[in-house]
Amino acid sequence: MKAVIKRRPEPGVEVFDVPVPDVGAGEVLIRVRAAAICGSDLGIFKYTPAYSKMKLPVVLGHEFAGEIVEVGEGVVGFDVGDRVLSESVKACGSCRFCREGMTNLCEDSTLFGIHTDGGFSEYVAVPHTLLHDIPEGMTFEVAAVVEPLSNALHFVKDITPIGRGDFVVVHGIGPIGLFSAQLFRISEARVLITGIGVDTERFKIAERLGFESVNVEGEDLIERVMDMTDGGGADIAFVAVGAGSALHQALQVVRKKGHVTVVGIFPGMVELPITDMVRREITLAGAYDAKPINFEESIELLMSGAINAEEIITHRFSLDEAEEAFRVADSKRGGKILFVND
Ligand SMILES: [Zn+2]
Ligand SMILES: [Zn+2]
Repeated sequence: MKAVIKRRPEPGVEVFDVPVPDVGAGEVLIRVRAAAICGSDLGIFKYTPAYSKMKLPVVLGHEFAGEIVEVGEGVVGFDVGDRVLSESVKACGSCRFCREGMTNLCEDSTLFGIHTDGGFSEYVAVPHTLLHDIPEGMTFEVAAVVEPLSNALHFVKDITPIGRGDFVVVHGIGPIGLFSAQLFRISEARVLITGIGVDTERFKIAERLGFESVNVEGEDLIERVMDMTDGGGADIAFVAVGAGSALHQALQVVRKKGHVTVVGIFPGMVELPITDMVRREITLAGAYDAKPINFEESIELLMSGAINAEEIITHRFSLDEAEEAFRVADSKRGGKILFVND
């Protein structure tokens, strides 16, 4: 089968013919119909320091959906022909965080596309415990982005103390920023989303989704937020980009007692104005990955029409076009970039 593989500890990916994975006990074999490129896949593509310890070679991809073509011993609740999507992390199930339901913080987790072969391929083997049924009426393409939406849902609902009518600045206009902005809007927040010059296409997506946005390279964000909030500042800032400049702006746009949620992955250390944060009683919270319940909630939000994923999916490629797909993802010219297998 064809697969997009990271083989060498250097930038780039390769498309190879590899054996179809064996199906172990408790696993199913999925014929992948759609898989999406995540910011972390881009980090792997570019081989940034955050991913330098990954196991090579590995088939990339942790956001994927497809149909079951084989069922291993001991699998319950799933059959050949079922349309399914998968969670991206196999948690150990026995560490302190797993026992308390916080599998996203598992001490010994295995991630598809980093520690074990993922879904940028024709087939992938997955433990049945990670599967969710795709409801009738949901396409494989939308099912493939349930994983990032689940992440956004965890960041917004579980970590950010959002109140009705709050003013929220979402820093970063990529797929996570665009999903999170929609989730904040469900809580009846006023949302302003920010991007930079290269995000031209993404600003158009934000506009089609009905959001006000600011190009922080062309306009003074702090001034704009103070204007919009009668000088009070934002209640919440949400940093969906791994850039120190965005984090600094987030700390400046929030009011006293404001809350900053950070979900971006940063390439290095960032200096923070701690004394200012102390005197203004600012809360800074990290948020990472998603819990199984977030997947079911995300599926419901998509089915009810509360969240629009179609508008965020902008490009489709075959596995053979992997190099080009990653280049487009890296250029920030689109929203979510998918691999589709017909
Ligand atoms: Zn992802
Ligand atoms: Zn664990």
